[in-house]
Amino acid sequence: MLERGEVANSWRRERWDSLRLLTPNWQSRLPGLRYEGADPDGYMSATEITEFIELFAKVSRAPVRTGVNVTSVRQAGDGYLVTTSDGEIACRAVVIASGACNRPSVPSLSQAVPRAVEQLTPFDYRGPGQLPEGGVLVVGASATGVQFAAEIARTGRPVTLSVGEHVRLPRLYRGRDVLWWMDIAGVWDQRYDEVDDLARARRLPSPQLVGTPERSTLDLNALTALGVELVGRLAMVRDGRALFSGGLRNVFSLSDLKLNRLLDTFDEWALTSGRDAEFGSPERPAPTSAPASPRLQADLRSGGIRSVVWATGFRPDYGWLDVPVVDEKGQLRHEGGVAGAPGLYALGLPVLRRRRSTFICGIEDDARAVTGHLAGYLAGA
Ligand SMILES: Cc1cc2nc3c(=O)[nH]c(=O)nc-3n(C[C@H](O)[C@H](O)[C@H](O)COP(=O)(O)OP(=O)(O)OC[C@H]3O[C@@H](n4cnc5c(N)ncnc54)[C@H](O)[C@@H]3O)c2cc1C
Repeated sequence: MLERGEVANSWRRERWDSLRLLTPNWQSRLPGLRYEGADPDGYMSATEITEFIELFAKVSRAPVRTGVNVTSVRQAGDGYLVTTSDGEIACRAVVIASGACNRPSVPSLSQAVPRAVEQLTPFDYRGPGQLPEGGVLVVGASATGVQFAAEIARTGRPVTLSVGEHVRLPRLYRGRDVLWWMDIAGVWDQRYDEVDDLARARRLPSPQLVGTPERSTLDLNALTALGVELVGRLAMVRDGRALFSGGLRNVFSLSDLKLNRLLDTFDEWALTSGRDAEFGSPERPAPTSAPASPRLQADLRSGGIRSVVWATGFRPDYGWLDVPVVDEKGQLRHEGGVAGAPGLYALGLPVLRRRRSTFICGIEDDARAVTGHLAGYLAGA
């Protein structure tokens, strides 16, 4: 196992200070290791999940070689030649577990943002104290963007949040964590070959969730209550002006609709499983309220907005992979983790084999299936 940094490198180096997992502690499970602390319904900090993964490396006795950067993987004979910062390795099979979020995904229109405006990505952003005084434009309203917008607004800075397609979720539903419902109702068990539009499912933005001791919901209504100004998707930056799409109401209705459908699924599960009486009564959150006339542009030269934070997602980096299995969008082509070259496998990608694959708790089933295939391959099956 080659790791360019340390064990749990992404949690050590690539997260902001206030980050807590959005999955509850009881869901932080790795093969043979479960959370056994006193707060199963709490949410781990980046330091806590780092310690958890370190413990896993220890108890699983994973043969990790840290500080070894893989700079190239190419086909050689009936196997692969792996070039690293610490020499070459010839092997028959390679499992790519280099993560799905190696780089912040920043749209090219960022290049048109005036120089006087500071720009940060989730890899640069540690906390609001780092930002210049004054207004902040946060672009992207998924888990990262809503968390940034809330904590920056709490410092008293004016925050404008640019909202595109998003997944709205309440933290709790009928008294239980919404991710408990996802789990028990089988939503996360949906297999990749049962998903209607797999490409879309794999691109789905992260849900608007935050893990806090209060277990509070952080949706757009909560942000409006904090004083955050909601605007549409950032469509263009021209002559120093940020131009936002209209139709915010439609975007909100769509995510409200999808949320209500999901809650219907949970209610249905409660009824058919005979457990309905265990929970509070079904409830529906208030629709997302749109500003009466959302701003369609913001002048980035006027000094009102002093910084832009790009919470526009992440992408993998396969710059080191010299095997033609990466598509034009930079995503690995694979079928349930079996990549399009003999002996090449992947783990840790969104909806790799199930919806749950996107999360830490998805690795157990995925790893079993992928290593099963790999063992067959090595045995010549
Ligand atoms: C901001 C954020 C918040 C998240 N929150 C949650 C959450 O609350 N709950 C949850 O279950 N999941 C969460 N996830 C998803 C979670 O991070 C992934 O499910 C999980 O990290 C996947 O683990 P991994 O080991 O496959 O990838 P990673 O954690 O990305 O690890 C990949 C490793 O590969 C190393 N690497 C990459 N390239 C090379 C190379 N060329 N040579 C050597 N080493 C290399 C990296 O240094 C890194 O350590 C979150 C993701 C992000 C980005």
